[in-house]
Amino acid sequence: MPSIQLDTPIEFVKGVGPQRAEFLRVELGIHTAGDLLEHIPFRYEDRSQFVDVAAIQSDATSIQLQGVITQVNEVPTKRGKRIVAQFEDATGRLELVWFKGGRWIVSQLPVHQQVVIFGKPAKFGGKWNIAHPEVERLEAFQGRQGLGLQPVYSSTEKLSNRGLSSAGIARLIRTVLGQNEFTIPETLPAELLAELRMPSRDEAFRTVHSPPDPATADRARNRLKFEELLYLQLLLVRKKQIATTDQPGVRFGAVGDRFNTFYANHLPFELTGAQKRVMREIRADTNTGWHMNRLLQGDVGSGKTVVSLLTALLAIDNGYQACVMAPTEILANQHFLGFKELLAEMDVRVELLTGSVKKADRVPILEGLANGEVHILVGTHALIEPGVKFKALGLAVIDEQHRFGVQQRAKLWAKSTPPPHVLVMTATPIPRTLAMTAYGDLDVSIIDELPPGRKPIRTVHRTDGARLRVLQFVEEEIARGRQVYVVFPLIEESATLDHKDLMDGYESLSRRFPLPKYRLSIVHGRMPAEDKDLEMRRFASGEAHILVATTVIEVGVNVPNASVMIIESAERFGLSQLHQLRGRVGRGAEQSYCILMTKDELGKEAALRMETMCRTNDGFEIAEVDLELRGPGDLMGTQQSGVPDLKMADLMRDREVLSAARYIASRVLEEDPELAKPEHAILNRELKRVAAGRPDWSRIS
Ligand code: ADP
Ligand code: MG
Repeated sequence: MPSIQLDTPIEFVKGVGPQRAEFLRVELGIHTAGDLLEHIPFRYEDRSQFVDVAAIQSDATSIQLQGVITQVNEVPTKRGKRIVAQFEDATGRLELVWFKGGRWIVSQLPVHQQVVIFGKPAKFGGKWNIAHPEVERLEAFQGRQGLGLQPVYSSTEKLSNRGLSSAGIARLIRTVLGQNEFTIPETLPAELLAELRMPSRDEAFRTVHSPPDPATADRARNRLKFEELLYLQLLLVRKKQIATTDQPGVRFGAVGDRFNTFYANHLPFELTGAQKRVMREIRADTNTGWHMNRLLQGDVGSGKTVVSLLTALLAIDNGYQACVMAPTEILANQHFLGFKELLAEMDVRVELLTGSVKKADRVPILEGLANGEVHILVGTHALIEPGVKFKALGLAVIDEQHRFGVQQRAKLWAKSTPPPHVLVMTATPIPRTLAMTAYGDLDVSIIDELPPGRKPIRTVHRTDGARLRVLQFVEEEIARGRQVYVVFPLIEESATLDHKDLMDGYESLSRRFPLPKYRLSIVHGRMPAEDKDLEMRRFASGEAHILVATTVIEVGVNVPNASVMIIESAERFGLSQLHQLRGRVGRGAEQSYCILMTKDELGKEAALRMETMCRTNDGFEIAEVDLELRGPGDLMGTQQSGVPDLKMADLMRDREVLSAARYIASRVLEEDPELAKPEHAILNRELKRVAAGRPDWSRIS
């Protein structure tokens, strides 16, 4: 039996020892030999080609040469010394240079022997040299298996200083894989591997660390990524089954009077095709007797609210209550007023519960909830507090999900037995791949159509040089009766400076648009709630022409007459935030505009964000770019992001592998929910092992 197994602690791998082991654990999270093998190369170098010194032409890529080191010198410099070695082959000579490493390098360099060197050439004083090349004796080079692609591993400075740069790590991996009779146990069913034409686990690991060519490397890597994603998806799909088909739910069997009356007489518009489709999905879900757990995605202004209202009516018609939870008081208020208005002529009691509802006013609301007289409760976090008890909660709607943690969803769930159907609404479009993992236990509905008659918002990017013209444009829009938002960033870390920017901006706008002809409102986080309310109302009623604000207005505020959104220092906002802010305009029939103001010089990423915003209004497209720029953790907010850590796969780049994993996981569990069939024994065993080894995965959703 080989002495090293996958679960052998890393320090026992030959060439590691306790000290390096500690660094491997801390720097790369490598605890065992198995972890080491999972540290797969991030790229490969083609080491099958040699270049002659005389034929070196460009410094674009690393090259490989074969020849002899004839001499090594230490050359003193101002800051210590550098090592210079003379290298020559049959066609010419060049210098190898080290700026660090000193005596150790000198002692390691094989002089007057055939060597292979690899590195990036540079031209200095008309002569080629290579700084910090890899040097290996020709014999050792030839002794290695596979001279095709050489793996390049990520390492850290601390590890490199202890001989574990990429080449050092490669050596350790060769030690483990090269043991006699060492095989890596299989973790996927043989039939599945055959069906998907994937290599065995053993072969995949060997190939990925030493591939003959790029295509084979890809296939091996995809097998390993697939495996990781498959087990993740098995966990998620299983969870979803437990939450839905294993979980008896309240049944909205009938479409009743309230729903029909509202639909026929009070709905102020025709539903869009997408809204109708989503209603059908919800109808079907809530009529099965199982529990609905559905994510409703739709861009800002796509009309999610009315979908939640119709679903609430469905609940009420079937003898249940509904609650709608919003992330801010402003938004809860707005939903409450909107619901009241739409339901004005109907026998439906709607109440509002937020932190600012006084104790005395709470009593009748809580009573009404307990005896079933309150049909719909709209509110903030306040409505998940333990004191809030329903007679029969049948539906919980959560608006703008990304602001709520997973635990809060669970608290809502606990408000009733069987648990209420859950409809999560989000205006931050989430790329499909991310939804499949972050919300892997939810069904997803998408409203991908805006109500008719909306004109696409025109977005432009301007710098300070154009400010006068921008202000002129604002003046013209106000003259047309329109209103204007001007938003300033407010980032926690630089709150004081940002606040000053906001106040300065307000001042200069006040001078440019003076009383009595113009009126400005201002809203920011440091104001008392009443003042905020008052200022917001002045703008919503049309009394104020310009609203100067921080991002407090980001979520949900609805002023259809506002047609211009100016975002100051737009380079400091993320894409999803820019898109959310832009969504505050374009809500009426008028042509709307979004003006992104930035400084002149932008970094590459910021420029891409501005370019993306100007190019498209499509939230899903923007979300894809955002995911690419920021990665899943940041995109979802670092805390409780709900995005599991992945070792091999990447949610953005490996979309296809992810889809395949999702498909197979669903297929397997549909056919064999308990993974009890003999051909699934291996999946069952591995799923338990994987779940135990990855605590962050079990916290998902
Ligand atoms: P969001 O999806 O951002 O929550 P809302 O539900 O607030 O969007 O809807 C935005 C606006 O569009 C509201 O004023 C709403 O009344 C209106 N609306 C919703 N659906 C339709 C429709 N089918 N036809 C016309 N207007 C609609
Ligand atoms: Mg909304």
